[in-house]
This record gives sequence, structure tokens and C-alpha cells, in this order.
Amino acid sequence: MANTGVIVSGAILLGIAILGFLYPINDMGWSVPQAHELCSSGLGQLGQAFSGDIQKICLEFRYITYGIYGLGLIGIILVIVGVVITHKSKEKTLTCAYCNFVAMSETELLKHSSDKHLDKSPYKCGHCDFIGITEEILWNHYNDEHPNEKKW
Ligand SMILES: [Zn+2]
Ligand SMILES: [Zn+2]
Repeated sequence: MANTGVIVSGAILLGIAILGFLYPINDMGWSVPQAHELCSSGLGQLGQAFSGDIQKICLEFRYITYGIYGLGLIGIILVIVGVVITHKSKEKTLTCAYCNFVAMSETELLKHSSDKHLDKSPYKCGHCDFIGITEEILWNHYNDEHPNEKKW
């Protein structure tokens, strides 16, 4: 299923983002976003002003942090889109029980079944030649045409 693929890729991206968010990058157990935060602090700004190396590292941390946030965001969007698509396609996919016909609405499917597969319907009237494509239609037929007969 393509929709499941979207959800899974979203979940994987989200997982990478969470990992990137929590994974310690040095002995002090800092994660990248923590390092980025430190770089943005007053002390970090001061360090960057004095050392080009710190400035370079801080810049890298900033890009990695944005990357992590970006991955997480894309992951969340993919999961939401995947769920919405799956939900919608479940609502809309009405496949004929007798052939590969896919209807866009319940009414269309009912019409298709009555047109093409009426002979396959199990809902046959026991008192005349009438065939209903659904139980409800046959029930209505009994009530209209044979109200005094036994149903089935
Ligand atoms: Zn059909
Ligand atoms: Zn009948």
C-alpha cells in the first residue's frame, strides 16, 4: 500500500529527528540543539567573537539543528498526509463484490450491481421473479408487493 509507505517514511524521518534531537554528540551528553542553544547564549556569542573555530562549529550546529527540525516537520506532515489519504481512500473506495469495478459513491455501486450482477444477488423474492441487489431493497419489495406473505 502506497499510503502505508508515506506513513512509514514520515515515521522514519520523525524517528531520525528525535534521535538527532536527543543523541549526545560529546562526552558531556550535549545534543545538537543543546549545543546550538549554548552557541546562541551570551557566553557562546562571546566565544564566537574571539575564536573563528567556535564560530564555525556553532554555525554547523545551527544548520544541523535546523535540519533536525526540518526532518521532524516533514516527518509529521508525511504522517498526517498519509493518515488523511488512507482515511479518504477508505471512504471512497467502493469495489464491486463481483468484478473489479470501483464506484465513487455507494449509489453508483448499487446502480452498477443492479445493472450488471442482479442475477448473482442472493436477495431473491420467494413469491415472484423480483431480485433485489440489497437486503433492504428486497425487504421493501416484500412490504410493498407481498405484505401478507411470510418474509423468508
Ligand atoms: Zn461489478
Ligand atoms: Zn416478489
